[in-house]
Amino acid sequence: MTESRCGLLCSACEFRESAGCGGCTRIDRPFWGEGCAVKSCCEARNLPHCGLCGSFPCRTLEGFAYDSQQGDNGARLERCAAWREEALWPPV
Ligand code: SF4
Ligand code: SF4
Repeated sequence: MTESRCGLLCSACEFRESAGCGGCTRIDRPFWGEGCAVKSCCEARNLPHCGLCGSFPCRTLEGFAYDSQQGDNGARLERCAAWREEALWPPV
């Protein structure tokens, strides 16, 4: 199930409860800042998540995924790719 635009698992986020965050796909703005470039870009393209974008994985998303502080060493890219496969199944 798609939990975020970038492939992050909001259900596993340790800050979700304390921040009162409903999760990436249910909020207008992330609790951690004025906005998220990935979330905004994805929603401007009317996409449920980045995996369904023709530019996936773009440099912005890769920058998030491999950020030395906040990144997850590419795990969210793999999750987006898996969500894409789920969305495209069965193949036509
Ligand atoms: S980094 Fe951005 S796109 Fe990813 S879960 Fe957080 S707000 Fe959503
Ligand atoms: S993959 Fe990049 S260009 Fe495509 S929606 Fe996500 S952030 Fe935007």
